[in-house]
Amino acid sequence: MSMIEFKNVEKYYGDFHALKNINLEIDDGETVVLIGPSGSGKSTLIRTINGLEPVQAGQLLVNGYDLADKKTDMNKIRKNVGMVFQHFNLYENKTTLENIMLAPRLVLHRDEAENKRIALELLDQVGLADKGGNLPKQLSGGQKQRVAIARSLAMKPKALLFDEPTSALDPEMIGDVLSVMKDIAKDSSMTTLVVTHEMGFAKQVADRVIFMADGQILEDDKTADFFGAP
Ligand code: ADP
Ligand code: ADP
Repeated sequence: MSMIEFKNVEKYYGDFHALKNINLEIDDGETVVLIGPSGSGKSTLIRTINGLEPVQAGQLLVNGYDLADKKTDMNKIRKNVGMVFQHFNLYENKTTLENIMLAPRLVLHRDEAENKRIALELLDQVGLADKGGNLPKQLSGGQKQRVAIARSLAMKPKALLFDEPTSALDPEMIGDVLSVMKDIAKDSSMTTLVVTHEMGFAKQVADRVIFMADGQILEDDKTADFFGAP
């Protein structure tokens, strides 16, 4: 089944035509990398998938719900679609452990002991087992991003969207974040869509690469075809 399906989707910011006739299908468990010049609409496209940006025409099916239909309950989408941002968006006055436990507690009403067990396991998975008691300001950018990833994973989403997750990081921090993302991409139970300029990452883990320019999809190829034969 397709986790994400765009059919003739159009997106405008006022008069500005940001997404032009987008047709795109992403299957369950697929890992797709989205590339293209700055201002081409990558961030807009990814933000439409969890309803952060409304679309004005076409059909946008996510986990079976049509986001182009105003009657669709966005909470049903957001429970199943996680997002990791360039600038982390952590709760600054909460510890890393609390950052991870908050949404599952409030949205999923997960049992507190179970919630903590899962959060600690995720902290360990992203290499921050000893940082549960720290506030975000006590962490490096790369560590904050790994907390943000753990926080998204705690909701056990069906799809995880990454919007330039390493662009705001110092070069020496990027490797650790990419390595966590590679593990996620290998998990075939989750659909992963990543906007990034990291071509090495795309080559290594993407099933497909999509190239956008000027609000349009210009290429949509299997990774090996996109980068050409070795
Ligand atoms: P990318 O992620 O590829 O850099 P964006 O999706 O951020 O591109 O932006 C695509 C275009 O839409 C840009 O020209 C940008 O200025 C414009 N844009 C993005 N967000 C808004 C907004 N909220 N209002 C108006 N224009 C916007
Ligand atoms: P980033 O590169 O981190 O995505 P941007 O500067 O592209 O940051 O966008 C930051 C915010 O400003 C986003 O919420 C985006 O929607 C909005 N934005 C971007 N371009 C425009 C624009 N031309 N007019 C209005 N809002 C915009």
